[in-house]
Amino acid sequence: MAVKLFNTDGRAIQEFVPITQGKVGMYTCGPTVYNYAHIGNLRTYLFEDLLRRTLEHDGYSVTHVMNVTDIGHLTDDADAGEDKMVKSAREKGMSVWDLAAFYTKAFFEDLERLNIEQPTIVCRATDHIPEMIALVERLKERGLTYEAGGNVYFDISRFPDYGRMALLDRQELQSGARIEIDPQKRNPRDFVLWFTTSKFERQAMLWDSPWGRGYPGWHLECSAMSMKYLGEHIDIHCGGVDHVPVHHTNEIAQSEGATGAHWVNYWLHGEFLLLNKERMAKSSGEFLTLSALIDRGYDPLDYRYFCLGSHYRTQLQSSWEALDGARAARLNLMERIGRLAEEASPSDGAPIGPAAAAFREEFFESLANDLGMPKAMAVLWALLKADEVAPLERLTVVLEMDQVLGLGLAQTAARRDELESELLALVRSREEARAGRDWARADEIRRQLAERGITVEDTPKGSRWSRAHRM
Ligand code: AMP
Ligand code: ZN
Repeated sequence: MAVKLFNTDGRAIQEFVPITQGKVGMYTCGPTVYNYAHIGNLRTYLFEDLLRRTLEHDGYSVTHVMNVTDIGHLTDDADAGEDKMVKSAREKGMSVWDLAAFYTKAFFEDLERLNIEQPTIVCRATDHIPEMIALVERLKERGLTYEAGGNVYFDISRFPDYGRMALLDRQELQSGARIEIDPQKRNPRDFVLWFTTSKFERQAMLWDSPWGRGYPGWHLECSAMSMKYLGEHIDIHCGGVDHVPVHHTNEIAQSEGATGAHWVNYWLHGEFLLLNKERMAKSSGEFLTLSALIDRGYDPLDYRYFCLGSHYRTQLQSSWEALDGARAARLNLMERIGRLAEEASPSDGAPIGPAAAAFREEFFESLANDLGMPKAMAVLWALLKADEVAPLERLTVVLEMDQVLGLGLAQTAARRDELESELLALVRSREEARAGRDWARADEIRRQLAERGITVEDTPKGSRWSRAHRM
């Protein structure tokens, strides 16, 4: 099934055609590890996981690379302010290295709790300083840089395609309409590739470079590391929408500036999670972590379910009521899966009939159509309620859908199987007890079964058991 995706570069839905048949190289901008990820950030990682799982279900082998930013990300994306890591380390009384280790661990734990597939390659910015320096040198050779006040800048006037994806207005770029903060810049949109010690006194992470001891600009790491691990021509690059005008615009300038060729075929951006109608952001101080949700009694998968209910390109308003709704729906879903697993005995295992196949097709078609989740969810529920489709067929199709949804439904069904075999073992040992005329033991087992809602009837042909039906 051809997957169609909305490409921010060109603003159009396009059929996904890989560079190499059957393979996908996918780069997703990772966290800046100066604090916990908030659930807004996690929405973006959930959308990227949905994309990856959709491609994998479609048969692609996906190499997914994610960076961990532990240097150079300033409090303002466009070179102003202080390094986020340095600021947070000072406030928390930790070294920047301990801070990075602590929040990196917390981040990947969050991904695991949300059932997000771990990236194939995770790369830390501080482990790739030589690659970044080499990239700056390459840009310098191509005449795209200048040095001023000890820093190395990218000169956007030498890169005519600057701002292509973000549709930045060329007039505005040339007139320099933005408020200027760095007098060294020739153009307000020029950005730092390499900072030297002149910028911050307290900068603890410093490396030698041809331009003096210093540290890289934030945008540089993603260009350098993605090209190292995925090559100079990449299928997919993702992030949140806030990255379109600055971070990804600058990444394109660096990578295409260095190679002189087209870099990324499909750019995908996830919309914001909102809190009280505003973007959830760490800088505003009002943000929720996954642990805060867990403390309030939610399962991380309730949040996953909540995010799956919206399309990745629409803003999503969060509220306790909405999360409660997601939790109730997910529990209902699990209950239904449990019941299907009970009803679907392997003996009636037949291949999927046309009715079940139609649900299956509609679900995966919705996903292939730019990850159309709301519709896919509606198809999932319609299938669960389709009594005309045999339970085993329904279960089989739902479990296949869950390869993409990632709600752990196979475990829910398997637990039911385990339960089933446990109960069968009890029924069997009761029969043995009866055969050995051990009535006391047989009665004790009957009591145990009754506690679990199973009634046993003794017939001349042996015992028959049934379950009290729940709604
Ligand atoms: P950061 O750790 O700040 O670099 O952000 C990590 C990812 O989360 C980036 O891809 C951002 O674009 C994304 N992001 C930031 N705020 C939000 C939000 N409120 N909703 C969804 N994604 C966000
Ligand atoms: Zn990036």
